[in-house]
Amino acid sequence: MDVVSTLEEVRIKRGDLKAPVGLVPTMGFLHEGHLSLVRRARQECASVLVSIFVNPTQFGPQEDLAKYPRNLKRDLDLLDKEGVVLVWTPTDEVMYPPGYQTWVTVEEVSRPLEGAMRPGHFRGVATVVAKLFNTVQPQYAYFGQKDAQQVVVIRRLAKDLDFPVEIIICPTVREPDGLAMSSRNLYLSPEERRKATVISRSLFESRAAFNAGKRDAKELLKVVLDLLATEKGVKVQYVSCADPETLEELDGKVSQALISMAVTIGKTRLIDNIILSE
Ligand code: AMP
Repeated sequence: MDVVSTLEEVRIKRGDLKAPVGLVPTMGFLHEGHLSLVRRARQECASVLVSIFVNPTQFGPQEDLAKYPRNLKRDLDLLDKEGVVLVWTPTDEVMYPPGYQTWVTVEEVSRPLEGAMRPGHFRGVATVVAKLFNTVQPQYAYFGQKDAQQVVVIRRLAKDLDFPVEIIICPTVREPDGLAMSSRNLYLSPEERRKATVISRSLFESRAAFNAGKRDAKELLKVVLDLLATEKGVKVQYVSCADPETLEELDGKVSQALISMAVTIGKTRLIDNIILSE
């Protein structure tokens, strides 16, 4: 497995890779969620390239950029074992050299939900993913359903900017008790970690209600909100029942829906989602 940082190195090594090339973009501190993307890419691609870059432009000024967890050595060991051929670990200066001033904005689908809570977040995401696509030129790129709005934004980005890449979405990997795996789970105290199970329980409860015939958007939201309210210390930022493609908020009877949420537990912000479909 080769590990490179500069643009020159990654271009040269990329040129030697057997097609099709699969790209798995990450911010590192890898867990089974990330590795599920790598494994899927290994099944479908001759060569798998993983990028590890904690992208500063997708963090707001009050967010956790400085304390975002990192462990490059452990990440590289894991990726080596998974049969990854090339890891790109660009520095901030490689991605955003002095004078940098070009940004990619995916407009409508970046606005609600995470976009409303984290101004500029998806501009940072879309910009860095466009740069990764430009340099790596993968035939396939792998993303997790865990970040549901990111999926919608990146699909739109690839389509609108004519990137010849197929976007593959992998299911959310969860801990045995249902909590969606996330590098940020590390921030939770044992007590907070216990409370955090209410997130997935409330989503699963909405799925059970949907499967039992409940179709009204407001009623489905109430199922989620009522269960979240049973856990003191879990503060809701938003809970949404939206169209999975346009992310427009739904009203009345729904036949498919993306239920998504952001909550804070202590100082930790967590997101999760589930797709309901007939
Ligand atoms: P991150 O390092 O958090 O930027 O995540 C890198 C990629 O892994 C993104 O496409 C995420 O959606 C995906 N990912 C993160 N957590 C999970 C998970 N629990 N299950 C599946 N994919 C995930």
